Amino acid sequence: MTDDRQSDWLSHALGAKGFMPEDEGMLLHRRALERLPHGPVLEVGTYCGKSAIYLGAAAREVGGPQAVVFTVDHHRGSEENQAGWEHHDPTLVDAELGVMDTLPTFRRTMALAGLEDQVVAVIGRSTTVSAHWRTPLSLLFIDGGHAEEHAQNDYSGWAPWVMTGGLLVIHDVFPDPADGGQPPYHVFLRAIEGGAFTEVEALGSMRVLQRTAGDAGEAVG
Ligand code: SAH
Ligand code: MG
Repeated sequence: MTDDRQSDWLSHALGAKGFMPEDEGMLLHRRALERLPHGPVLEVGTYCGKSAIYLGAAAREVGGPQAVVFTVDHHRGSEENQAGWEHHDPTLVDAELGVMDTLPTFRRTMALAGLEDQVVAVIGRSTTVSAHWRTPLSLLFIDGGHAEEHAQNDYSGWAPWVMTGGLLVIHDVFPDPADGGQPPYHVFLRAIEGGAFTEVEALGSMRVLQRTAGDAGEAVG
């Protein structure tokens, strides 16, 4: 069974609920394979675990207890996931509480993909968790709330933890407002203009930046 799961991770990723096209997911997988030997990966915006499969499969391939993916989400959904909005899925509502809960679906998805040892769920608000985070990251993937406030907070709270040489990957970057919301693009511009990050790859709405200077480790230590 384990062997089937290992060879079959892509079909689990393709079948999972979520918002990650295959080509962009494969970019995540390839970049995580490259970076995981240097430190952990952290994703902001788990939802049901679709992108986490691409990242977690890389961790399994790299192997060892150090190759892990942390994925942060309060599991209550973004604005656009709430009832009445474009990306609402009524099957993800806790009927008794009347709120979204993507955690049960995420857990089943990870169990079925056999990635429970590699993907560690951190349940809470991004700002609450980032305020207490102290571990340098080899790759940070920002795919959380798309309101300006949340996107900017994700950058402020997490980008300092990307180690020098490490990667900041941002999803849903749309330079043309006709293609989508602007906050992730604003974060992309902020990272470039700050001088610490350089763009190394673009695919669809995915942008890959590399830290060339000034990580939190240097600032703290
Ligand atoms: N990466 C996912 C999609 C993420 S959707 C995939 O591959 O399908 C964005 C997620 O960010 C939602 O699950 C939402 O609950 C979460 N989110 C939004 N704002 C957040 C915040 N401030 N703190 C934690 N999670 C947040
Ligand atoms: Mg996204």
